[in-house]
Amino acid sequence: MNNKLSAGFLSHLPITRAVLNDKERVLLAVLKGQVKNRSEATKLLSIRSTTISDYVAELLAVRLLTEEPSERAGRGRPALALGVNANRVVTIVFQVISQSVHTFMVNLSAQIIAHEKIEAAPDSDNAALEAIFLKLYNTVIVQLPSGAKLAGIVCSLAGVFDRTTYRWIHSSRWPRMNNLDIRNIFRNEKYNISLSRTLDNELLMHLIQQDESTLLLHWGYGVGFAFGQSGDKIVEGGYAFGEIGHWHIPGQDVPCHCGQKGCLETVAALWSIGHSILGNDFQAGDDEENIATALATKDLSASPVMQQAVNQMATAASNVCRVFFPKKLVISGPFMKNAWVWQAFCKNFEQQNSFFGQKTQQLTMSHISRDLAVYGAAIPVLEQGLAELLSDAT
Ligand SMILES: [Zn+2]
Repeated sequence: MNNKLSAGFLSHLPITRAVLNDKERVLLAVLKGQVKNRSEATKLLSIRSTTISDYVAELLAVRLLTEEPSERAGRGRPALALGVNANRVVTIVFQVISQSVHTFMVNLSAQIIAHEKIEAAPDSDNAALEAIFLKLYNTVIVQLPSGAKLAGIVCSLAGVFDRTTYRWIHSSRWPRMNNLDIRNIFRNEKYNISLSRTLDNELLMHLIQQDESTLLLHWGYGVGFAFGQSGDKIVEGGYAFGEIGHWHIPGQDVPCHCGQKGCLETVAALWSIGHSILGNDFQAGDDEENIATALATKDLSASPVMQQAVNQMATAASNVCRVFFPKKLVISGPFMKNAWVWQAFCKNFEQQNSFFGQKTQQLTMSHISRDLAVYGAAIPVLEQGLAELLSDAT
């Protein structure tokens, strides 16, 4: 896969960050609004004007760029303004949010140009979920803009799945679903199908914003982490990589839905402690963003259940840092929206952080929005589609 363009789409990044060829630099400069016409491209990129003309001609030929008369500036011919045809390459991202399956169509400018969702009842089995995926696909595919190339379909999943066999092994939201063959759902389609981890997609956006080794820990319905290092490299591992929610906690023996007893999730995850800390404000299956709002205003400082959860999570975070030694630890999920929980976690983590005098240097809360994480899922597929178009335009 061509990852050269991964940094280019976001306007806050310097164009020199990625290694790009000159034609790609022209496209990205227009996409980022840095240049509006050929002469500005010549100046900004220090490329000869005849060469710029060749590249622009190639990019116009594959319809990635547009060039149209802009408003007349003074006398003479109207200037021609360059624009990007952001809908030239798009991808479809499926993602589970709360109790629903969502599908998004995303373009080169990170815009969500179509969005559909269907709620899937907790007792949904393989056949029910397969029908939902197909119905969503059929509803979104007819919204493909004319002239767009659909670069592929990504299923951004949580829970346990195997990206090499395309099997979605387990999701706590749909316990009757088991080993769902995602590729088989789209067997009649010619598009490339890939599975990616929702937490990895969120991590990718962190790495694009700050390119250094980062451990992203999610604490919500489940507990898991993702790790990546500079160069946007994300560790994939095996089929349940990062699922530390199922680490055993000594002295605990409450049954976990994974089949074991005394897992970290039995003392820290939303599914296990939600009722005891939020009472009637907790509805199992409710969106983590709604739960974050309920948690934010709750006084949890006297809750022994919450205190235990914070302690176990801080220890788990410290232990994972002993494996990867990241420069940065980022925590996402609803619990951290409670100021007391955040402070208690930071304090506890800080006590355990020092290792031979060395430390994980930064501890922050994730502020990546869900839409941006959807874009994180789309990026590798958009890159691939763009690379194919650019290599055609020789
Ligand atoms: Zn477990």
